[in-house]
Amino acid sequence: MSISEQLARVRASLPEGVRLVAVSKTHPAEAIREAYEAGQRLFGESRPQELRAKYEELPKDIEWHMIGHLQTNKVKYIAPFVQMVESVDSARLAEALQREADKCGRQLDILLEIHVADEETKSGWEPDELREYLASEPFAAMPALRVRGVMGIATNTDDEEVIRRDFLALKSLFDELRPRFGADFDTLSMGMSHDYPLAVACGSTLVRVGSLIFGERDYSKTAAL
Ligand SMILES: *Cc1c(COP(=O)(O)O)cnc(C)c1O
Repeated sequence: MSISEQLARVRASLPEGVRLVAVSKTHPAEAIREAYEAGQRLFGESRPQELRAKYEELPKDIEWHMIGHLQTNKVKYIAPFVQMVESVDSARLAEALQREADKCGRQLDILLEIHVADEETKSGWEPDELREYLASEPFAAMPALRVRGVMGIATNTDDEEVIRRDFLALKSLFDELRPRFGADFDTLSMGMSHDYPLAVACGSTLVRVGSLIFGERDYSKTAAL
């Protein structure tokens, strides 16, 4: 099936109010253009230089989300144009984003990435760490950042109960933090190709789907980036 057909299928499966990030990492600009021609405007990438190169090559009305782990020294590549950084997993990164966004005279949307999976290798705040950090009120001093919600990745397993547990933990933290950030805090980003229907059932408002739309990834092609 073509990219546009796969995209149409995924779109048709999402209830109203759930947005789709088409995760295009490792795929060439032509693949993104095909999805763009089919009406998709929101794309996600996980490497800053690759994201920057695609931004420069592709139409400027694309909304780009950074979804992968971001090193503070790479923030400068994407701060001038990225719409949202979904993977804010440390105070240092939030501070670097504040600084670079301010330099560009921009306001950046961010999500707080939460670690809920069993794998220790996955990144994100531990919920208690995050609560402690938020209790120190640092976001009040970050006017260039708009905290829009929470992002997370479920455990990589076939056990649906484990995945559901992870999604419900994210939903529960999202509900807990919402009163503190107010009306702008409206985004719960969870669900990927293999688990997004369950994520939606658990309250996701933003799903990040890559391989189901673009096919399997070949990392060797973009290793140089
Ligand atoms: C790659 C990636 C995705 C998409 O994964 P698929 O399984 O291809 O849908 C979603 N979220 C994050 C954070 C990713 O890095």
